[in-house]
Amino acid sequence: MKISSNFDSGNCKVISADSHDNIQLEIRTDTNSDKFQWFHFRLTGAEGYPCRIKILNAGMAAYPSWDDYRAVASYDRISWFRVPTSYKDGVLIINHTPEYNSIFYAYFAPYTYEQHLKLISTAQHSDLCVLEIIGETIQGRDIDMITVGSPDDYKKKVWIIARQHPGETMAEWFMQGLMARLFDEDDAVTRLLLEKAVFYLVPNMNIDGGIAGNIRFNAAGVDLNRAWAEPSLKSSPEVYYVKKYMENTGVDLFLDIHGDETLPYNFVSGIEGVPAYNSRLEDLCKTFVNDWLLINPDFQDTIKYPINEPGKANLTIASKNVAQTFNCPAFTIEMPFKDNKDMPDMIFGWSPERAIKFGESVLHPIMQVVNKL
Ligand code: ZN
Repeated sequence: MKISSNFDSGNCKVISADSHDNIQLEIRTDTNSDKFQWFHFRLTGAEGYPCRIKILNAGMAAYPSWDDYRAVASYDRISWFRVPTSYKDGVLIINHTPEYNSIFYAYFAPYTYEQHLKLISTAQHSDLCVLEIIGETIQGRDIDMITVGSPDDYKKKVWIIARQHPGETMAEWFMQGLMARLFDEDDAVTRLLLEKAVFYLVPNMNIDGGIAGNIRFNAAGVDLNRAWAEPSLKSSPEVYYVKKYMENTGVDLFLDIHGDETLPYNFVSGIEGVPAYNSRLEDLCKTFVNDWLLINPDFQDTIKYPINEPGKANLTIASKNVAQTFNCPAFTIEMPFKDNKDMPDMIFGWSPERAIKFGESVLHPIMQVVNKL
């Protein structure tokens, strides 16, 4: 029996793997950080054995909210299903009998760098799409941006970014769905939108962190979603280059895609506490939210983060900072690691497939506001 994690987005430390019913692991910290949460490892040689895998330091994770959480597993790295998981006295326990020699377990279905490169490389086949490298990460990897639709002064500028927090992989699954629909020239919503808007998309903001198996930080140990007030070329180049590009294009609507470790729902976090917030922005944000509620039962607006008091928003956060800088509607979009409690799926929980559909669906509320931006 062997446990390994020395691969793209792998994360775990083996404490003991002598006996299948007492496998002891720890999650290692994000790069240059003391925080941790994301795990992803491979177990081989335990086919047919009832395994009891203990993650000993789960109680000290960044978000130790493991109630109702079930880990995911995959034999083929395509289908990721949920496995029985419990949490007691700070230890997360996965009880599972592998049916094959090799099995992967993870916090959520991974979205590897290879998958990212494939997403980007496939996108360039669309005539609607232009690919640009807008800069490099801390470790010298390309930061890919895709423009969809031909830019024109009269068109609205819609910016959508994902995976500032690299372990929130559902965000890139969401982007995959959104992009596929944007490239579908037979889709009426897309056709109308591209007459009126240009889309600037950054499907993976934190490539180094993703490869390293981090939950939240980049290679310099910076939380990119707290770096928007003063992005630094040295420690947060990913934000620096995107914000610089935004200053050239302008922004009329901004979406920042995330996953939430705690709440078992899809929801948005808005810009109520931003100093620039006014009745125009309020009206646009309400139109967006109400339309999404109407067209997608996977979205709800009841259980979410507390709304900021007027003027009290944290302007280091992307959505608040962009709303304030460009006087435009902006949202942080959150999906669950667990499941959507309103519409649970016992086999897969919240899954890549559902995140893809959710991403496709967001074009409809964008269409509802685009004329008023
Ligand atoms: Zn996040």
